[in-house]
Amino acid sequence: MFQNRTREIKIGTVMIGGGHPIVLQSMAATKTTDVVATAETCQRLTEAGAGIVRIAVDTQQDAEALREIRKRTTANLSIDLQENYRLAELAAPFVDKIRYNPGHLHHAEPNISWQKKVERIVEIARKNDCALRIGVNCGSLDPSSTGNNPMLNIALDSAFKHADFMDSLGFQRFCVSIKSSNPSIVISANRQFASLRYDIPLHLGLTEAGMPPEGVMKSRLALEPLLAEGIGNTLRVSLTVPNHRKQEEIEAGHLIVQNVRQGKILTAADWTPDQLNIVSCPSCARVENDRFVALAQQVREATRFMKNVPLTIAVMGCRVNGPGETDHADIGLWCGAKSVNLKRGTNLIGTFSYDEIVQKLLQELEQLL
Ligand code: SF4
Repeated sequence: MFQNRTREIKIGTVMIGGGHPIVLQSMAATKTTDVVATAETCQRLTEAGAGIVRIAVDTQQDAEALREIRKRTTANLSIDLQENYRLAELAAPFVDKIRYNPGHLHHAEPNISWQKKVERIVEIARKNDCALRIGVNCGSLDPSSTGNNPMLNIALDSAFKHADFMDSLGFQRFCVSIKSSNPSIVISANRQFASLRYDIPLHLGLTEAGMPPEGVMKSRLALEPLLAEGIGNTLRVSLTVPNHRKQEEIEAGHLIVQNVRQGKILTAADWTPDQLNIVSCPSCARVENDRFVALAQQVREATRFMKNVPLTIAVMGCRVNGPGETDHADIGLWCGAKSVNLKRGTNLIGTFSYDEIVQKLLQELEQLL
């Protein structure tokens, strides 16, 4: 498969970029402090073909759990940091890569500039032999750059700004991702980024792709054209499946790479999706309630009768990308520990129990139909 010649970076035992084969990734959906289950998931995903497995780290306990997880798996580990960038220091000795989200660097310690925070993360990466990923997500963009700009421009601006800042620090061992739940935005953002920064390896992904089979088809639509153009060095297919089925993300990744090798590229002309678009996150350690995956499935079943209605419903597992992603949907549900927030666009309609929420959703949809 033709690939743009980006620089290569080492992540544990794998290399990405520089013409190396595409590396597939997935993420554990267990509580990070559940060391046995998380290590077992990482190992299972590695045996299924994951070159890198990501783990969410939000608390000191999560970071400390990595010491034991590291001993129990041979996986190349990446941590997923959101607001608490300081945890990088505790976690880095036990992992191979650190992902940070530029949009979430602003929340904790707002009096410290993002540049200072990134400097610290880079210092920790250098000291602990870790690579970095600048992980831009359209569901959680930098709140200071929103305004009236289209989402695509804000996401690209954030990616360029952080990549330039890495250059200014003389740090090259990083990759970039620009993810959205919209395949067209993923394609445009990555094409534009690769056309100007062809030196930087790209991690591709359609975020919140949803449940299979639709989530696999939407991911194919976003990723296959890019890979066919030589754009992308590593990828993750984000599927809403329970943790024991996470290897389906790797199977879908293999399918995508194989299709591109065989010249079978899915395009919008080849697939007519249901007009009802259900966007749902893949869940991870941050999921607020274990009923989330079942809730996403219930929403799909309850709305099958309106599959030809052109609406987007977002079902999200927590507040990390929940509020942002539901802002962009016609109807959004995002999960709290004991209740689910129901929104119409940016407006909160109310907060309902897990037992009530599907009925409330249907009542809200009735008003839209
Ligand atoms: S929105 Fe879903 S995948 Fe994203 S951090 Fe929350 S639970 Fe994890």
